[in-house]
Amino acid sequence: MVEERNLDGAVAIVTGAAGDIGGGITRELAKAGCDIAIADLGVSEDAAGDDAKPDNHEHATDLAADLESLGAETLVVECDVTDAAQVEEMVETTVDEFGKLDILVSNAGIITYSPVEELDEDEWDAVMDVNTKGVFLCARAAIPHLKEGGTIINTASIAGEIGAEGIAHYSASKHAVMALTKTLSLELAEDDVTVNAICPGIVDTPMWRDVLTPGTGEAYEDTIQRAIPLHRDQKPEDMGRLAVFFAKNRNITGEAVKIDGGITQD
Ligand code: NAD
Repeated sequence: MVEERNLDGAVAIVTGAAGDIGGGITRELAKAGCDIAIADLGVSEDAAGDDAKPDNHEHATDLAADLESLGAETLVVECDVTDAAQVEEMVETTVDEFGKLDILVSNAGIITYSPVEELDEDEWDAVMDVNTKGVFLCARAAIPHLKEGGTIINTASIAGEIGAEGIAHYSASKHAVMALTKTLSLELAEDDVTVNAICPGIVDTPMWRDVLTPGTGEAYEDTIQRAIPLHRDQKPEDMGRLAVFFAKNRNITGEAVKIDGGITQD
């Protein structure tokens, strides 16, 4: 029998951790016993009030206090996942602080709403850079430390499995995350490293509040009632509980699990 991974004292990096889903993932990992590096843009003391992410420093500070109250040790790390040097530094700082790395959760992501006919190259590049290249850079930097039993969990999306009007670039970037997840699972199997993806459906975060709801012009609650068979949205904690499941299980790899209330069926 293959034992579960012991998460007591396991060390996890979560990117995009100052965001809503990142917060849910870190909380569930902390409850399961992990120590956490909270990695995001604009989280350091110096970056406080960063124009691009004005609230991230506060979110990360509050989150660290929350996780510590759950028994976790924490580290807040400034990291732009599109910058290879910053990603390397994030991993090295985490390993210096905690002595090891067991779990990488690549969760940072961005979205814009533009039908292809109106989609700028800059928008395409920015979304691909964060959502796809960021996942690649984080995996590449973490792999040497994860060998012998670690795990990678990527936040993809149901848009990584189906087309999605108005967000072709986002959908393409998340399909690429699925391809990376499957390929990494093969490349790392010899090292007993598992690699899986979480595919959220609709979670009430700035992605919906600030981008998708205005983009589609449909009220958020109407989208929930129309699009989700279970007629309720998904929560950051749902994603966190799946992250813990993937982190513990050592015989599931190359998989993507959708948490979407029944939107997608295959
Ligand atoms: P969010 O905006 O609350 O969180 C995203 C986080 O990523 C933010 O904290 C942001 O600062 C960070 N980030 C952005 N660019 C970054 C960069 N270059 N380097 C480091 N961090 C960066 O949104 P969320 O909904 O919590 O998104 C988390 C993940 O879930 C994303 O990958 C997103 O694509 C995915 N997702 C969300 C939904 C949803 O319904 N909200 C659905 C499917 C997938």
